[in-house]
Amino acid sequence: MARGFQKTMMTALGATDHVMTVLSVTDLTPGFRRIRFSAPTMIDGRETPTASYVRLWAPDPKEPGKVHQRGYTLVEPDAATGQVSFDFVLHEPMGPASAWAAAAKPGDTITASYYMFHKFEPPEDPEGYLLMGDPAAIPAINAILGVLPPEARVVIILQAHAPGDAAIPVTTHPGADVLWTGPGTGALAGAVPHRDWSNWYAWVAAEGAAIKELRATLNRVHGFPLSDIKHAAYWMRGKAMRLRKEAGPSAGETVTRDQPTTQPPFVPIAAANAAAPAAPRPRWRSQRGVELLGSLRWKLRAAGALQGLISLMQLAPLVLMAELGRRLLAGEGRWEVLSPLILWAIALYGAAATLSAGLMLWLHAVDAQFGHTLRVSIVTKLARLPLGWFTDRNAATVHQAVQEDAGRLHYMVTHAVPDVVAGIVTPLAVILYLFAVDAALAAMLFLPLIAFVALYILMMRGVADKLVEFANWTKRANAAASAFVEALPVVRVFGGDGRALRAVLDGQAAFLNGWQRPMAGRKVASQLAIQPPTFLLLITAAGCWRVLSGGMAPADLLPFLFLGTVFGAQIMTVMYGFVPLREAKQAARRIGLLLEEPELDRSRSSRELPPGPLGLRFDGVSFGYRPGKPVLRDVDLVLKPGTMTALVGPSGAGKSTLAGLPGRFHDVTDGAIRIVSGETEIDIRQLKPEALQRAVGFVFQDVRLIKETLRENIALARPGATMAEIEAAARAARIHERILAAPRGYDSVVGEDARLSGGEAQRLSIARALLADPPMLVLDEATAFADPESEHLVQQALSALVGRRTVLVVAHRLHTVTHADCIAVMQAGRIVQSGRHQELLARPGLYRDLWQAGERKSA
Ligand code: ADP
Repeated sequence: MARGFQKTMMTALGATDHVMTVLSVTDLTPGFRRIRFSAPTMIDGRETPTASYVRLWAPDPKEPGKVHQRGYTLVEPDAATGQVSFDFVLHEPMGPASAWAAAAKPGDTITASYYMFHKFEPPEDPEGYLLMGDPAAIPAINAILGVLPPEARVVIILQAHAPGDAAIPVTTHPGADVLWTGPGTGALAGAVPHRDWSNWYAWVAAEGAAIKELRATLNRVHGFPLSDIKHAAYWMRGKAMRLRKEAGPSAGETVTRDQPTTQPPFVPIAAANAAAPAAPRPRWRSQRGVELLGSLRWKLRAAGALQGLISLMQLAPLVLMAELGRRLLAGEGRWEVLSPLILWAIALYGAAATLSAGLMLWLHAVDAQFGHTLRVSIVTKLARLPLGWFTDRNAATVHQAVQEDAGRLHYMVTHAVPDVVAGIVTPLAVILYLFAVDAALAAMLFLPLIAFVALYILMMRGVADKLVEFANWTKRANAAASAFVEALPVVRVFGGDGRALRAVLDGQAAFLNGWQRPMAGRKVASQLAIQPPTFLLLITAAGCWRVLSGGMAPADLLPFLFLGTVFGAQIMTVMYGFVPLREAKQAARRIGLLLEEPELDRSRSSRELPPGPLGLRFDGVSFGYRPGKPVLRDVDLVLKPGTMTALVGPSGAGKSTLAGLPGRFHDVTDGAIRIVSGETEIDIRQLKPEALQRAVGFVFQDVRLIKETLRENIALARPGATMAEIEAAARAARIHERILAAPRGYDSVVGEDARLSGGEAQRLSIARALLADPPMLVLDEATAFADPESEHLVQQALSALVGRRTVLVVAHRLHTVTHADCIAVMQAGRIVQSGRHQELLARPGLYRDLWQAGERKSA
């Protein structure tokens, strides 16, 4: 694309030119050339996210002085040396960039604009990745393949433009299938296999027109929501890569490779598609957000239509008043002529106000109902999610959904649509009316807007680079501040000053000053340009000129004075109005994703606990947090009633994961966990939730206390417990004395007047478990606490708790479980050894290695 308007806009929006010097030229295949550049101003330590690309300005081979731009993916950017490579496809006929690359030699220079780096940001855990593009996209696809987890499923569809393209090296990935198709605008779109693409993520980079068609096909034929397709047009046919329209095999036709490669052979995709059975209607998790808003759609449309009418009705009295003025000036000052105008104005004004109030009331009612339904669904959902879902990150998701996203939806339902509609209808109606009154003067109302845009563009110049610089300063200032705070005790005792911090802060202030000060003037000027007084001044001056030069009747100035002055402010409302609408859509998407989280299946959970002492059996248990990534594999383990079983093994072996399964923190992927009492065995998924809760107690390292009294914290599982029972549990857990020492004893509130140390909180949670008195117990063995006194008390409390229960303990230090009835040694999700301490120690194996390593460490 010629460097003209687009270049100006890009520069205005912050693109900066970087001159790059060729260092070396390597042909990866005869038609695919990698050029390494020195680009110290571009690769200067800032982040270069995966698959980011820049615009390269290639000289026009025919017209000197003219340049063309194309997107190129950064290959192997190296911040330390300021070097980066770009891969060029050398085709016939060559476009400007290819022609430049074909002749490039070390020492040559070329400019690149880096507008903003584009991140590769797929949604969380998609079912798979569909990566599509042409040879120009291969560097980006390679970059993406480099960061995808090995278990990811990937389908890559590439379009060959010329024989030999299929030899271009594509990064190998264990889960990737690579298909090649032939040239032509529709070839990529036609190559997408018919299958169930539910929850897949599509990434597309190719020629502009091909992308347009591909997006439409992915959406209409294969069901992809447009939000799950990331696309970037790297070039446009006939504009950038090639100057002439290409001649080649027709769309959908496959090309033959001209040399052997490691690529899989071409697949006759069109034929395969024809033979494939119709795929089931696919579903995307992200669609839930759209469905969520679906119930509102007709209501919001109706509200928009009504608001359009209201806006016109609100405007009409002003038009009538202007008409009134014109007639008065024209000497038609008779009551019979004027009264209908006045009455109509009053009536319309009243009707518009009433309708507007009615609309607001109705929308608030709609919102109240929608908000209620939404919150109830979220709360219901939370109750049905497995406990293991509530990690810190997911807790933040819930927080955002309930607190912020629900609020954004409130704005969208009640205000956003009327605001945007009013913002569009009013200025449009005003300008149409004013054009009808006097086109020349009406046209002049655009002058302040043009000035505003020009000043804005000036203001945004170089912003991208400045923002990066700003982020660097912030990072530096934060680092200096934390270094200063860390050193503070030493500084206080031995003297010293915060010179380093002051220098950084001064530097940051100087940078901000240098950046913002020249902008301040433009900022004020751009704001001034669209203020009502500016329009008033313009209308008066230009209007007088029009009247004096005989182009317009004096009375015609009135409508402009009535309506033209707030024109600029109204246009701004539209520009700002779309932001909350977009945010609300994203909020709906996030809430939708939360509502799509898989729930715990409770459909069979109807049985009570069997009587008698309880044991537990893991039968061929497998589990993974993500499909295709097992964390536990085929685990068999028996916990006999009244015995203690210890899980040991290296970190990450799956001990904590296994220990959480008896409480249904997650459900097993395969196999079963059964509660055993004599001859009776019950799958824990068949137990009523309360029964399972009564059967298994948990004491974790990371203790969660609720913001209630200490008494309520202990009696959490048995709210009806008497004070005597609570106290007995606290004594046994060695926390009674500590509670009495708190300002209000058992009535002290956690986080207010009761602040417990780690060890104390641990003992409180043991008291909680003692009071609940479950027949089975899962313990995550406490790690060493800083103070030995506390550790001693925790150990005593634990001994009291274990008693004669059936215990599963996750042990981090082997010497604490040497007395266990059974020690199960885990490695990579499997139990690799089990037995008593002495037996295990006598045999060579992981346990003995771990034991010996522990001995060496403590020696
Ligand atoms: P251990 O207790 O033996 O240290 P874990 O059971 O904590 O091992 O972890 C086993 C594996 O499961 C690790 O690879 C860990 O990264 C992964 N893992 C643990 N918790 C989660 C989770 N909530 N989501 C995803 N992966 C997890």
